[in-house]
Amino acid sequence: MKRSAHAIIDTAALRHNLARCREVAPNSLAMAVIKANAYGHNMLKAAETLSHANGFAVSCLQEALELRQARFIHPIVVLQGFHTMQSMKAIAEHRLRAVIHDRHQLELLDSAPASVKLDVALKLDTGMHRLGLPIEQARTLFERLSKHPNIKPTPWLMTHMACADEPDNPHTQQQLERFAKYTDGLQAPRSIGNSASILAWPESHVNWVRPGIMLYGSSPFAHGNARRDGLEAVMTLSAPLVAIHTIPKGESIGYGASWTCPEDTRTGVVACGYADGYPRHAPTGTPVWINGKESRILGRVSMDMIVIDLTAIEARAGDQVELWGKHLSVDRIAQAAGTISYELLCNAGNQCQHTYI
Ligand code: PLP
Repeated sequence: MKRSAHAIIDTAALRHNLARCREVAPNSLAMAVIKANAYGHNMLKAAETLSHANGFAVSCLQEALELRQARFIHPIVVLQGFHTMQSMKAIAEHRLRAVIHDRHQLELLDSAPASVKLDVALKLDTGMHRLGLPIEQARTLFERLSKHPNIKPTPWLMTHMACADEPDNPHTQQQLERFAKYTDGLQAPRSIGNSASILAWPESHVNWVRPGIMLYGSSPFAHGNARRDGLEAVMTLSAPLVAIHTIPKGESIGYGASWTCPEDTRTGVVACGYADGYPRHAPTGTPVWINGKESRILGRVSMDMIVIDLTAIEARAGDQVELWGKHLSVDRIAQAAGTISYELLCNAGNQCQHTYI
């Protein structure tokens, strides 16, 4: 489906951000997290651009198989592992690494045919309470997996941080301490850090780091600044102006007539809306970038249009408007709309055409 809004993906920025990850965590291998279509950036093209990463992480078997079918031979970790015998066999057949995070997977393993030989990562719950087996059982579980006839040598040990994006939150320190306490002495590669941990918690830089959002040039921190973290924006979401009007003082704009012009106001209509992944809850005042200047949206975001303020801005129909990207960080838009950049990138990136440059 071709629509006017499109996402321009800057491959040099994507590579730069991986280099930035390596600069911050120089002794760790980098497993690029490219799940959810590389956070809306196109998984196969992102993998090609990041082919010098040490490995990839995806959510599910289907994503991993797409990578294998495209002939990526990298180590690939399937974060949700397997849930059925069939998916376990496919993981083994395609030389993927399954995350073991739940008891039912251990039961499936116990009933696997002898021919199935799996690489696995044992995911331990240190306080996130989403996926993971109890950290207190780390030693017993590790030994059980190490001796298991269906498991290849040396399961990895993994955990995931719940609050690393809040550098003052003691939760991360507690999780790191629990992980160290219960896995101390086990001879296995470890993986802890997501982007926020990579940037703020050097203790998480163990054998493998798992950068996601930082690769795409967005700050993982609540009020972060990607540039300050040395990251470059990868996706620019852009759409053309399709109409220009002057709306008289006292008239209001868009659905719900939620914004009223305090004076005669020159406005432009941008061909992008929530059907393109732009957040409907972005309020009046959310910034946009047009012809070298910052402007703002007026009134409610519609399905495929946004009205912007063109007061004191030279613009013509057809001019491109940047909704976020090089001049306007996606983090600012996410903050204005009360959400996170991850959601905006996934939504827009999975709905718009991409141009890779
Ligand atoms: N590791 C796991 C297990 C994840 O689920 C994710 C993403 O949600 C990541 C790493 C990457 O996280 P981030 O995008 O915050 O770097």
